[in-house]
Amino acid sequence: MRSGRRLTVALAAAALTFSTTLAGAAPAGAEPAAADRSRTPDSALATTEAPTLRAPVLPAGVASSARGAQASSRAYRRPPFAFWGKKYHRIDGFGFTTATRGSGTGLRIEAAWKTYRGVRPLLPKVFVQKRVDGGRWTKVKGVKAKIGKHLVAARVPAHTVTAGVPVETVDYRLKSKKLRKGPRRARRSVSSDRFTVSFHNQAMYTGDQARFYAPIASLCPNASITLDPDNSITGSHEGLFSWQHGITIDAVSLSLSTAEPEVSKLGISIHECAHMKQFYNWGGTNQGWGRLMKRSEEVFVADTNPDPAVPSIPMAPEWSPMEHAADCAKELISPERYRTYGGYCNPNEYAAAGLLWQNQRY
Ligand SMILES: [Zn+2]
Repeated sequence: MRSGRRLTVALAAAALTFSTTLAGAAPAGAEPAAADRSRTPDSALATTEAPTLRAPVLPAGVASSARGAQASSRAYRRPPFAFWGKKYHRIDGFGFTTATRGSGTGLRIEAAWKTYRGVRPLLPKVFVQKRVDGGRWTKVKGVKAKIGKHLVAARVPAHTVTAGVPVETVDYRLKSKKLRKGPRRARRSVSSDRFTVSFHNQAMYTGDQARFYAPIASLCPNASITLDPDNSITGSHEGLFSWQHGITIDAVSLSLSTAEPEVSKLGISIHECAHMKQFYNWGGTNQGWGRLMKRSEEVFVADTNPDPAVPSIPMAPEWSPMEHAADCAKELISPERYRTYGGYCNPNEYAAAGLLWQNQRY
């Protein structure tokens, strides 16, 4: 007999971070700032496993009607279909319930569902509701959720922020249609806890958000630029793309790099935009991550420029195929190499990296 369903979810709270290393091979006369403190390269690719989650054990005595009258009447009221709490929610396959996205971005939401021992699951139809800035819940048209073994999943279409509004906070939830079968009192609609997404209206960006969005406006139009003055997201790095927060820039630290040319700073956006392409070109969910990693390792290799006349930039210890891909993609747009994980982009790698900009997989 099973004492409750176990939901073991390896949730990767992953972030792709951009190296803050200043390459030693800047063009002559354009030396990187000596004042660029001791910036260690980031953990290039931080794929941290969140703790394994376990669903709470269901209360005993949830029995079939063969039990005593009291137990029976309790079971009678229990829904044959319900959602677990927020703890098991996922956005785009990752274990978080809030996220930042740019206007024009869709997402995938998942919530764990449950039934009760002794009660046969009666699976309802599930749809998605949303509300903008705490307003009324409305049905998201044309979206049907799928009930899997443990999770109910729905692909939510892109949300476009209302013109003239800088940020809209959108709550989503899954909601079941009333069952027509089963115990009468259990025939009710149930809702999941909320997922909350802040959608940025890029057209309303000003200041540093506008500054770092500008170089990628046509490359990653749906990107969001989050500024992180207290380093709560970026940590010791100056920029990163994370699946929860999107592109995040520590403009305050960057402003201290007075000798670093603007083109290098803006190159961070382009590199992170390349990571965003990696993510979305492979499906925009955690599920594509493994395939992306594998493919990156096949295509992006640790080689050096065969031309001895070209000085090579040593590879940072954190060099990885994923980072090299983002570097090569960035160089196609902005060839300077002040910030890079180092190494050499061979013609095959440039061709593959170019596919990212065409919304294709390499
Ligand atoms: Zn990177």
